[in-house]
Amino acid sequence: MNAAVNEVLIIGLGLIGGSLGKALRRSGFCRKVVGYDRNAMELAAGVSLGVIDEAALALPDAVASADIVVLAVPVKAMERVLTDIAPFLRADTLLTDVGSTKSNLVEAAGRILGELPPTFVPGHPIAGSEKSGVAAADAELFRRHKVILTPLPNSSPEAVRQVARMWLVTGAEVLQMEVRRHDEVLAATSHLPHLLAFSLVDTLAQEEDSTEIFRYAAGGFRDFTRIAASDPVMWRDIGLANKQAVLKQIDRFTAGVARLRAAIEQGDGETMTGIFTRAQSARQHFSRILTSTAYSQAMTTRNVTFHVQPGGTVNGTIRVPGDKSISHRSIMLGSLADGITEVSGFLEGEDSLATLQAFRDMGVVIEGPYQGEVKIYGVGLHGLQAAPGPLYVGNSGTSMRLLTGLLAAQPFDSELTGDASLTKRPMERVAKPLRQMGAQIETAEGGRPPLKIKGGQSLTGIHYDMPMASAQVKSCLMLAGLYAEGQTSVTEPAPTRDHSERMLRGFGYPVEQDGNKVTVESGHRLQSCQIDVPSDISSATFFMVAAAICPGSDITLQHVGINPTRIGVINILRLMGADLELLDEREVGGEPVADIRVRYAPLKGIQVPEDQVPLAIDEFPALFVAAACAEGETVVTGAEELRVKESDRIQAMVDGLQTLGVDIQGTPDGAIIRGAGKLGGGVIESHDDHRIAMAFTVAALRADGEIKVNECANVATSFPGFVELAQQVGIKVTKEEG
Ligand code: NAP
Repeated sequence: MNAAVNEVLIIGLGLIGGSLGKALRRSGFCRKVVGYDRNAMELAAGVSLGVIDEAALALPDAVASADIVVLAVPVKAMERVLTDIAPFLRADTLLTDVGSTKSNLVEAAGRILGELPPTFVPGHPIAGSEKSGVAAADAELFRRHKVILTPLPNSSPEAVRQVARMWLVTGAEVLQMEVRRHDEVLAATSHLPHLLAFSLVDTLAQEEDSTEIFRYAAGGFRDFTRIAASDPVMWRDIGLANKQAVLKQIDRFTAGVARLRAAIEQGDGETMTGIFTRAQSARQHFSRILTSTAYSQAMTTRNVTFHVQPGGTVNGTIRVPGDKSISHRSIMLGSLADGITEVSGFLEGEDSLATLQAFRDMGVVIEGPYQGEVKIYGVGLHGLQAAPGPLYVGNSGTSMRLLTGLLAAQPFDSELTGDASLTKRPMERVAKPLRQMGAQIETAEGGRPPLKIKGGQSLTGIHYDMPMASAQVKSCLMLAGLYAEGQTSVTEPAPTRDHSERMLRGFGYPVEQDGNKVTVESGHRLQSCQIDVPSDISSATFFMVAAAICPGSDITLQHVGINPTRIGVINILRLMGADLELLDEREVGGEPVADIRVRYAPLKGIQVPEDQVPLAIDEFPALFVAAACAEGETVVTGAEELRVKESDRIQAMVDGLQTLGVDIQGTPDGAIIRGAGKLGGGVIESHDDHRIAMAFTVAALRADGEIKVNECANVATSFPGFVELAQQVGIKVTKEEG
């Protein structure tokens, strides 16, 4: 069947049939495009406008000689046309259509044809306009639009392939769906909006002063009602043909409007804010999907490359974005608190936005973020609601691991999913202890996401000896512990970040700390508060290392969080001989903060103390660069965790630094790095890992050739505005987006 197609017959030569004819003629997909229409004028216009090669005068002959027959008449006319052509269809003629509804056609075909032939493949191009008729035909109508094929159980794969090929040559993207699913999805995304537009304009037009209303109607009215100019007959037919699915959507919509009406009537601004902020973020999310920039799209769909010219010095006073860990937790605890929590300095990166969206999906009203400010209307520990679908957390391991603990204790079922990179990361480390508490969690193969969490389980507190030093695992169990019977305690083999403990206390929730053991107990409440998120020491690290390796540099980083569980980088850089000062040390909302000044001083290689490793775990890509610029050997051990981060960070740094000519050797739990006076240039693979990308950007300060870093799109996950700040202080980096 892959042989060249001889004749395609299009029955119904209007906007869609005509556009398909034009596109097929142009592509050379078939030898001849024949058109048929009951309207002789349309048919004649089809020939004179070059839409078809030939007009069929008698339908039986045209059907008998066609290789592919496309029904492009209004949905209500499909049954009639199918009855007329059925006797003339050859056994090997492919039959397809373009109708906006599918169940009605398939039912009609069953009545008319008896057993559905393997050559029958229904289809629907999701492209169109308010115009109709052959004069509006446009060969480009389907380019970059979707065409949904709804193959039937007995459609032959060969027939499906051939119909798909016909659409692909028009420039369309071809998808497949079941018939019923198609009608449900289209009822929601196309049919309901069209019917609402018709209804709104009709309602307003009936008002006495409608002329006045329309005269002053501005952009909102115009945008919302553009589609009310569509063909009334076509939409009547669609309404009739897809009755059940359309009624279901109208009922859902009516209930939504009723909720909004009640909120307005009762002066309930919070409910209104909830509806509007959820809708706004869903709409923005949708726009990002359309432009392929959403975190729901694999990040790798955006191709960002950093080009960094060698040399320069770094100078100035800057404030890097808010701490990611604290931003995540502010949303989580703010949502679970009683009352309104106001957050400033919130990191508007994709990871913390994923957490924010997850809580919105669970019914929490959240305003913002606007310039780092977020207002959370807490629902209390027992106020979360089931999300309408799986909770998608993009690339964020923190969101997924912490949410697993929280969701394990909720009365409803949940599913957690993430992007391709997150889907490779281990989740059994949280699932296992949670199961010991009584949770029911299913992971995909190898203990990886998606996670399916069964609600309604009563959890019991446990004492857990963490086999690895992980703040995410600890925090996850503490969140589950807020709901578990009795006490939940976690002992850590080495100190990990204690942001959860600090913030829980900040929200008035008692947390006991006894050496390396932390304990929570259910039965208390969280009380809303104000949170001023300190700058992220992990983001500040790139600039600390930049100044530390680059002669002539002097930089001050303002308002940086210096939580004792995070200051490994300060301790390690000082051990290496860095000139690093903490200025104006103070405490902000339970978290210690300081301005950090770093001036260049020659660094020396060290054996990195293992007790500092967990306190600097995210900082190693940058610290490897510092080591590569130090005099002598630096040895890192006890850092096997680095192998299961966003990338295998040990391997990525070894490969990258070797490219720059550095003598470095990877070990199972670290690396041995022999410092070099100068680094070379080269092309670095960041493996979509933001920290690898930023570390090599900084390395260029000591390089003697350009460093090109591939796959940098994920830098936006942790450090929005990195390139601009780097340029501001003197790093010669430019971003290329493809
Ligand atoms: P259109 O411009 O009105 O064209 C339909 C053509 O079919 C008209 O020329 C019509 O002639 C002719 N026709 C009607 N009954 C016929 C019959 N029994 N035998 C032969 N020809 C007949 O409509 P369209 O917008 O192209 O829509 C065609 C199909 O595409 C519909 O099933 C629609 O659901 C689907 N579709 C439309 C869009 C869109 O946005 N327009 C998008 C996707 C899919 P008369 O003028 O004499 O009635």
